[in-house]
Amino acid sequence: MSGLGKVYLVGGGPGDPDLITVKGHAVLQQAEVIVYDNLVSRELLALAPDALLIYAGKKKSDHAMPQDEISALLVQHAREGKRVVRLKGGDPFIFGRGGEEMEALTEAGIPYEVVPGVTAALGIAAYNGVPLTHRDHTSVVSFVTGHNPDQIDWNKVGHAETLVLYMGLSNLTEIARRLIVAGRNPETPAMAVRWATRATQTTIVGTLATLPALVEQAHMKPPATIVIGEVVGLREKLNWYERLPLFGKKIVITRATSQTATLGHKLHELGADVVELPVISFAPPLDPAPLDQALASLPAYDWLIFTSANGVRYFLERLDKSPHDLRDLRAKLCAIGPATARELEALHLKVDVVPEEYVAESLVAAMSKFELAGKRILIPQAAVARDVAPAALRELGATVDVAESYRTIVPRASEAKAKELFGSARKPDWITFTSSSTVKNFLALAGAGALEGVHIASIGPVTSDTLRMHGLTVDVEARPHTIEGLVDAILLGSATLH
Ligand code: SAH
Repeated sequence: MSGLGKVYLVGGGPGDPDLITVKGHAVLQQAEVIVYDNLVSRELLALAPDALLIYAGKKKSDHAMPQDEISALLVQHAREGKRVVRLKGGDPFIFGRGGEEMEALTEAGIPYEVVPGVTAALGIAAYNGVPLTHRDHTSVVSFVTGHNPDQIDWNKVGHAETLVLYMGLSNLTEIARRLIVAGRNPETPAMAVRWATRATQTTIVGTLATLPALVEQAHMKPPATIVIGEVVGLREKLNWYERLPLFGKKIVITRATSQTATLGHKLHELGADVVELPVISFAPPLDPAPLDQALASLPAYDWLIFTSANGVRYFLERLDKSPHDLRDLRAKLCAIGPATARELEALHLKVDVVPEEYVAESLVAAMSKFELAGKRILIPQAAVARDVAPAALRELGATVDVAESYRTIVPRASEAKAKELFGSARKPDWITFTSSSTVKNFLALAGAGALEGVHIASIGPVTSDTLRMHGLTVDVEARPHTIEGLVDAILLGSATLH
């Protein structure tokens, strides 16, 4: 079998990227080629940043690629020895034509595996609080395609059971009519759900008789799925998802991509529609000489002050490249904020003092228990960082060396994304700023006008000052000045601000 690749037919789940299976997740991370459909969450594609991504379409209106072409593509890449993932929305074997692709692979002698996914019906049930079966209501559930109502014998389905209609939006009026003619009670509860399990989920609830008109009035568009049955009546009581505190709120995160994970995840768990707009990324200094010099005399320093987790990482990266290592470190350690302290503690170093913020008052207050006269202090930090704090330490009699350990840059791709996000009819509800640099970079990219009508959340007083300096209003400020504090502030803010 040498040289022959393999195809994994993977169900990506209904929308919320967290609903992929553990196996699907693992297979995606190792993919070399991913052939994906329209319904697949783009977040899943980010799991394989180096994979070749091929869009195979599948919107009703634009069949980007005919089925036999997709099958041929899978065969071709597998023959080149590649690990190919065929990624589909929901489950590959529920209205997914996965069967046809497997047949083609079998004929071509290509090995494959199938990884199931959470099909739309199950995602919708869970994220609407509508159990598809229930002892008091029904023990039967049918999944039906509404694509072509003539193909279905409506005298056989939909009489008493829970009926889940995939692709049924455009034929809903006709289908509802046929179901009622076949004897289903027009008063049966029914709902249409669009983009289920995503923060953009929209649900319309009615009855078999009223739902078609309601859907039309609301101009609901695919992808949507309809559920008809007594169990839909339970939604009012059990609908946990749309009641999450940040459900439906569009929140922009401006941190670097590598740092958005925790903030984004916490907001996502609270129901928010999280959009990443990295306005900052990091790079080593253009001139590493000052840092190298400081590293060469590391044993001479009495104190090291790290102002950010990035500062720690880039300091270590440069130390690794030098002839020295951590054994040269004699200094006491000061870390600004708990995240910076954690980065040092991960090295099994003990942090002596953790001021909350990199402002003169906070730093001086925290350091005042120590004798600083005549001491040597090294601050490895970003080039743009404020220098009020070093001046305050010098006033206490210390010799302070500030060495550039990294610099911040503006990611190019974010300009177009910012235009799209803030120029659209549905503007974000919130934007978060976690440093003065994110504020300045954002304003350089999009301008202050973009933020009209958008609530602003700031990590702390320094960032807030920068915002106000540019004429912006800070709606909430984190306290403590951490990611957790920021999330709490947004929670409080969205409950009280309008
Ligand atoms: N294999 C997929 C179904 C593909 S057919 C699965 O198992 O879910 C496409 C139809 O699936 C859409 O027309 C819609 O009815 C349904 N669908 C898929 N994802 C959906 C979502 N997030 N919300 C609502 N309906 C969805």
